[in-house]
Amino acid sequence: MYDLTNINTLHRIFEKNGFNLKKGLGQNFIVDPEVCPQIALHADIDGEGVIEIGPGAGVLTCELAKRAKKVVCIELDTKLKPILADTLSDFDNVEVIFADVMKCDLKAIINQHFKGMNVSVCANLPYYITSPIIMMLLETLPELKSITVMVQKEAAIRLCAEMGTRECGAVTAAVRYYSSPQQVLDVPRDSFLPPPKVDSAVIKLTVNSDNQGVNRSHFFKVIKAAFSMRRKTLLNCLSAHLDGCDKAKVLNALEQCGISPTARAEELTMDQYIALCKTILGE
Ligand code: SAM
Repeated sequence: MYDLTNINTLHRIFEKNGFNLKKGLGQNFIVDPEVCPQIALHADIDGEGVIEIGPGAGVLTCELAKRAKKVVCIELDTKLKPILADTLSDFDNVEVIFADVMKCDLKAIINQHFKGMNVSVCANLPYYITSPIIMMLLETLPELKSITVMVQKEAAIRLCAEMGTRECGAVTAAVRYYSSPQQVLDVPRDSFLPPPKVDSAVIKLTVNSDNQGVNRSHFFKVIKAAFSMRRKTLLNCLSAHLDGCDKAKVLNALEQCGISPTARAEELTMDQYIALCKTILGE
């Protein structure tokens, strides 16, 4: 088995396979030997199913494969095919699918590979599409047990922010609605090859299968509209971006929910969003 946290070993593997790291695909590989075992431990996947997004050279995959019953990896870069075939050859519980995770039918993958298993997602995410990946997972896969992912520190703060705080954005509200977020590990920039310009953190989202009495797509529409114009009031944002809702209708709904017409999106609690959603769009 290779030590994939050894930079010389990695360079030898890359050279042998004519592979160059691609900045555009967010290829910052973990080279701190303590990080991957800790991520796998926090993911809590022993004897269960795991989807890994972006295995890279397989450093985290090996730690997941030691614990999980089955690991299915989704990797966009086909240049990693011969590398992963080599680095993962000791494991018979790992499968790699070469595809764009944003275009994959993950439900079909779960049905095909993880029958009867709890399934979680664990990954060192490509930073250029962190939020779209997390939103897609939360919106389309309520059956997931948890999502444990490395993201940029700044994104971790936003994703785990409390409702009603300055850091709160649309993605925060979506994360809080669909899951219980927790920041579990700080990872400095020199833990990666190449080191990115910023530090990172691992967050764990324990997925909440309860829709809290509102239609998920209605909730999402309200959140997106509410945060559509950062410095404008909720009244202006909702009346401009929610189909069929003029100012009078929004004003009436805000009044019914006891929300000030001058409130801004980041000031509302989750309960207020849920009440507003039910009042404006119905359950
Ligand atoms: N897991 C490895 C590690 O921790 O060292 C690599 C993580 S690296 C931050 C992100 C990985 O995601 C890269 O291997 C990259 O090629 C892959 N990737 C980028 N965009 C992707 C996409 N849309 N779908 C699937 N994989 C993607």
